[in-house]
Amino acid sequence: KKITIAIDGFSSTGKSTLAKQLAKELGYVYVDTGAMYRAVTYFAMQNGFVGENHLNKEGLINELLAIKLEFRFNPDLGFAEMYLNGENVEQPIRTIEVSRNVSQIAEISEVRAKLVEQQQAMGKNKAIVMDGRDIGTVVFPDAELKLFMNASAETRAQRRFDELVEKGQNVTYQEVLENVQQRDYIDTHREDSPLVKADDAIEVDNSAMNKKEQFELVMKLIEE
Ligand code: C5P
Repeated sequence: KKITIAIDGFSSTGKSTLAKQLAKELGYVYVDTGAMYRAVTYFAMQNGFVGENHLNKEGLINELLAIKLEFRFNPDLGFAEMYLNGENVEQPIRTIEVSRNVSQIAEISEVRAKLVEQQQAMGKNKAIVMDGRDIGTVVFPDAELKLFMNASAETRAQRRFDELVEKGQNVTYQEVLENVQQRDYIDTHREDSPLVKADDAIEVDNSAMNKKEQFELVMKLIEE
């Protein structure tokens, strides 16, 4: 039986690692909704709607129809990559600059409405694993399996820092920790759809779990 799996939680809790493993194991489609918010943010940065100390909400809202987001499967990587208006933006959307701006873009209700609609359309045939912040609460409130991931801010910052350093980005642990805390704050204080655990979501705290242990735990839940 094909189901919908919704994975929510704070940044860098390993949502995408788990979601990719599950999608591969089950032959499901994996959708990283954070990539969509990041791509809109990258567009806003490129077009001068957001920067160091400014945000032109109206300007961005007026251009929303000109933003075309698409996931294209890359068989070499085994997952889909994010395309913005036909361009592969998988690399630039993962920078710390985009991470610094993304939460304020994700707070704009017109942006959320556009992306939620697109996400719901992608999930209409089930057999999907989607990760984000509002999947179990807003996008797929009827998902058969909902997970809510958590780990301490320090654990998450360390994981994210290691990833960025591996990609050759010049950042300090302190900067990454501040970014994680700042995003947590904005994500949990959004008026529209604050990051909260759905009542029927299962909480997974993976501070002390490795990827394999976590995967096995969740596969058991699916088989139940
Ligand atoms: O998952 P990731 O850290 O890439 O998400 C980037 C940002 O996008 C989050 O910090 C959050 O502000 C926003 N986001 C969101 N709703 C989602 C997914 C991501 O608001 N469903």
